[in-house]
Amino acid sequence: MHKIQLKKNDLVFVIRGKDKGKTGKVLKLIPETNRVIVERINFSKHFVKADRSRNVQGGVMEKEAPIAVANVMLYCSECGQGVRARSRRLEDGSKIRLCHRCETMIEKQK
Ligand SMILES: [Zn+2]
Repeated sequence: MHKIQLKKNDLVFVIRGKDKGKTGKVLKLIPETNRVIVERINFSKHFVKADRSRNVQGGVMEKEAPIAVANVMLYCSECGQGVRARSRRLEDGSKIRLCHRCETMIEKQK
């Protein structure tokens, strides 16, 4: 099983599927199926029946469905596209993730 390279709250760029070209924030990782849930990406509509006893309003609900990790890439705001990241260890021992193309720091890890 591949390890998911992304992390929660990463900004990702969708490279395949109906939401191709969109960006969103990673809300949840699902390593078991190699999928992620990305904010406002891969929305699926489902109908909810009204249930007065539980005070549930009926109607069409929209919810993010998991998307395959292979369909998203880390987003670099400098490049304006999905990029591969690489990590580098700093002298103080902390690790940073850099954009593979422009070397902009994407994230600093403690
Ligand atoms: Zn970049």
